[in-house]
Amino acid sequence: MSANRKNEVVMQKLKLFSVLLSLLVLMPFLGLAEARSLAQVEGLRFWTNPGYTRVVLDVSRETDYRFATLPADTKSGVGPRLYVDISSSERAADLNSVVNVRDGVVKKVRTGTPQPGTTRVVFDLAALGEHKVFHLSDPFRIVVDVGGSGQAVPRDNPTASASSPAGKDDGIAAVLGSAPESAPLRVRLPSGDGRPGLRRIVVDPGHGGKDPGAVGPNGVLEKDVNLAMAKLLKQYLEKELGVEVILTRDRDIYLPLQERTAIANRAEADLFISLHANASNDRRAYGTETYFLNLARSEQAAAVAARENGMTLKELGDLEAILFDLMANSKINESSRLATEIQKALVADLSRNYSNVRDLGVRQGPFFVLLGATMPSVLVEVAFISNPREEALLIDRRFQERSAQAIARAVRNYGVALNLLAQR
Ligand SMILES: [Zn+2]
Repeated sequence: MSANRKNEVVMQKLKLFSVLLSLLVLMPFLGLAEARSLAQVEGLRFWTNPGYTRVVLDVSRETDYRFATLPADTKSGVGPRLYVDISSSERAADLNSVVNVRDGVVKKVRTGTPQPGTTRVVFDLAALGEHKVFHLSDPFRIVVDVGGSGQAVPRDNPTASASSPAGKDDGIAAVLGSAPESAPLRVRLPSGDGRPGLRRIVVDPGHGGKDPGAVGPNGVLEKDVNLAMAKLLKQYLEKELGVEVILTRDRDIYLPLQERTAIANRAEADLFISLHANASNDRRAYGTETYFLNLARSEQAAAVAARENGMTLKELGDLEAILFDLMANSKINESSRLATEIQKALVADLSRNYSNVRDLGVRQGPFFVLLGATMPSVLVEVAFISNPREEALLIDRRFQERSAQAIARAVRNYGVALNLLAQR
């Protein structure tokens, strides 16, 4: 072999070596990319609200995302845009690439793939107004709120203003400091006509998704019972009172507590009713009770509030210290009145069909889910899921129907008493 030929072979070996080396260096990354398949952008839903449009992007798992706006390009005649880039994702095969919204705020929403592994969702806007992009978990979804020209996007939590200590998901920090960085500073003023009346009611089935609520001795989950009863209550209220009813959730999904009242505030609802089942360490405990938001007046009320809030009694004490400020907007008198009607109707109607109905009365407590609601709001603990007898009742269809009927009747009584409802 000549010297030249020898050099050539050495060079080739070096080349091969460097290729192998770079493969070795890259391998872990290639492996990772394969191990974690791309998130699927599966759905695109939108709602047109007074003054703003909400678009929800359903994504199959949690993944990073970023968003930005682009001003109108007069040269090419393209209007202002907002786009969201979803990392490590791809469009599901059946997702439409263009969705026409045309509601005066959002013209259309387009999805595309600017580079492999990134899904870009582009919002063609009528004007560059305020916007907010945030996500919700379980299932993961990215929410895009876009305001019309000069319109403020509603805040998630109208009471959010103070700085706060760190805390758990639905804890104090979430209530006080949950506004994401992109949250606008302006607060939307109510655009309702101000006439008193009962037109829209938000019914909130407690818990859901990763949060089962209390679990009965025979495995009944509170979240399931709450949802079944809420659907019945919606039916009865719509049929018998002719009001519009919005459920905070109509399936088994997780919703942070502050998101529930935010739904009611955004909808400018006239009432907010949260449905729950009670629980106690003492399996013998049973009965029906209805709560409205206030400082806890008893140890039991504090215990129930702590459980429903997912916090300790100590944390509840910290919350109570700041509660006075946050309650400024709450309708305590009306809430107390509504709670009284519901409690009365539930006990009376259930007593006609069941023995051992125990009236635990109307109570008050610092419930997160009622915090920040600007309309009369109550939380109903229909029965104890921790009591085997009442656990069986809670999954009984007739019991669910009778309870929902009683609550609907109570809402009617409340409306008639306060002259909010024409007597029919
Ligand atoms: Zn509950």
